[in-house]
Amino acid sequence: MTELMNKNLLQLKPSGIRRFTALAKSVPDCAMLTIGEPDFSTPAPIKDACKAALDADKTHYPPNTGEPALRAAIAEFEAAQNGLDYTADEIIVTSGATEALYTAITGVLNPGDEVIIPTPAFGLYESIVTMAGAVCVFLGTAPDGFQITPQALSAVMTARTKLIILNSPNNPTGSVCTQESLQAVHDAVAGKPVFILCDDVYARLVYAPCPMFARYRDLRSQILVVQSFSKPYAMTGWRMGYLMGDEPVIRQLALLHAAAVVSVAAFSQDACIQALKTDITPMVETYRRRRDYIWDRITAMGLPAVRPEGAFYIFPRISQFGMSSEEFCTRLITEGKAAGVPGTCFGAEGYVRFSFCYEMPAIARGMDRLEAFLNRLQR
Ligand code: PLP
Repeated sequence: MTELMNKNLLQLKPSGIRRFTALAKSVPDCAMLTIGEPDFSTPAPIKDACKAALDADKTHYPPNTGEPALRAAIAEFEAAQNGLDYTADEIIVTSGATEALYTAITGVLNPGDEVIIPTPAFGLYESIVTMAGAVCVFLGTAPDGFQITPQALSAVMTARTKLIILNSPNNPTGSVCTQESLQAVHDAVAGKPVFILCDDVYARLVYAPCPMFARYRDLRSQILVVQSFSKPYAMTGWRMGYLMGDEPVIRQLALLHAAAVVSVAAFSQDACIQALKTDITPMVETYRRRRDYIWDRITAMGLPAVRPEGAFYIFPRISQFGMSSEEFCTRLITEGKAAGVPGTCFGAEGYVRFSFCYEMPAIARGMDRLEAFLNRLQR
């Protein structure tokens, strides 16, 4: 019966990240550096707010776009934190950034539209664009240090371009778009019928200033911003995020969100109000120490990499070893007992992603194993 199913759906493949994680788990004592989620527990005050909401019987359908109190708190937070001017009516509380991305991407695309995805990129974008029957146009940024140049952008923009997806800080590289990169995008889309989707889920996990595309308020009607509670507050399992945009666009997207999920869990929304009040500096400082350590180790091994300025990944180049990134990662797991994710999972051959969402001894063990593996390869 599968042949009768949606033809776009039949093109989707399972995530390569999970495949490599499964392979690594099948090797006893493998040092895993594959996972993209905080190793911290959700801070206690956030959990307490959820428990209190349950005790107060917040167990009924909330409004489709989210509790007014949470949307007001998000609007206030975004103004103070990022200088954005979205009102509560321009925010949809979603089931993680994943649903926000799905709602935004499928909500703006028609079959045949082109979507520019700078690569390396989070694999979910391609799946959702494919589901929408639209066309992914990949813009390789590796030759430009993972930045977007006006020349590279103009080479891929066409009259069919409907959407550009930006992800800064980036999964998998940890790099942050420079103001020049953002200006290149700004100048390419100003006055054109093109949406810009800013996947800013790592915006709070930064080790250097992070310019934000959403601050171009002259493009307000073209911009959609996706945010998540998962990464900054160690809340991946809660599945909470939000989508922001200009009111007429958000009003329309709210219908799609309502059709898919009605609304997200009522009691979790109180927890999110508490999350926005949480000081995450200690977690960010921990990631920064790990970033410094893994950067020192990777560069000491002679692996070329861009220094991560955000998120919790590093993405060194391994093409100099004369094998594909899948072969490199398979051999690293089976011969070296350490695991990363091949660059092909992010549309970038010749690289490996290592995550530093692990405690320092686990990162050190992974780096020791990588170093020993490279030494054997070079012998
Ligand atoms: N966007 C990026 C760039 C991500 O790396 C992830 C998760 O890894 C997501 C979105 C999805 O986040 P959420 O847990 O909020 O669905």
